[in-house]
Amino acid sequence: MSSQITIALSKGRILKDTLPLLKAAGIELAEDPAKSRKLIISTTHPDVNLLIVRASDVPTYVEYGAADVGVAGKDVLLEHGSTELYEPLDLKIAQCKLMTAGKTGFEEPATGRIKVATKFVNVAKRYYASQGRQADIIKLYGSMELAPLVGLADIIVDVVDTGNTLRANGLEPRELITHVSSRLVVNKASMKVKFEAINALIQQLSAAVDA
Ligand code: AMP
Repeated sequence: MSSQITIALSKGRILKDTLPLLKAAGIELAEDPAKSRKLIISTTHPDVNLLIVRASDVPTYVEYGAADVGVAGKDVLLEHGSTELYEPLDLKIAQCKLMTAGKTGFEEPATGRIKVATKFVNVAKRYYASQGRQADIIKLYGSMELAPLVGLADIIVDVVDTGNTLRANGLEPRELITHVSSRLVVNKASMKVKFEAINALIQQLSAAVDA
């Protein structure tokens, strides 16, 4: 039975913070993805390969079993909304918050609809619905901070770390939707078929997170 494990990861913050955890689990990259255009990266562990994918694509690769395991932010997982993934471990890395934000001093009207711009359309819809507030959600792919400044929206929903990006654009954080950190996700079939290898990986990563 194959115990080859493919791990889907995105470049940037998540890769940088996941590498020390993988190293503690005996997995080091055979080459530096930052310097390589390769999207399949082999590792010092003969049974483990990495796939470098877009952060928002990680749940899709794992859900369809193209990768057995992935590392994705809770923001991405909530937006993806799949119930087809196991989420066995909080890696406690790349921590930030999903928040609403608006122009400094902006007062929401007590009644009527507000315009909300975000790339987290599903998260925003669920959040405003749960609050019983009427919101028109406008999908953007980036530079959300611009939307309130040019009248495209009243409010944005975005990930916030220090809040510096908001402040630099005359915006302020308003409501906390949820805390975010990166999670290990596992394909349900892989978890059964490759139980020993994946369970060992989860245990090793878990010990590295606690260390
Ligand atoms: P901030 O420190 O609030 O100025 O964060 C700057 C930008 O970095 C935010 O607008 C986000 O787009 C991004 N960012 C910060 N933390 C994370 C994270 N953990 N995951 C993804 N994006 C993040």
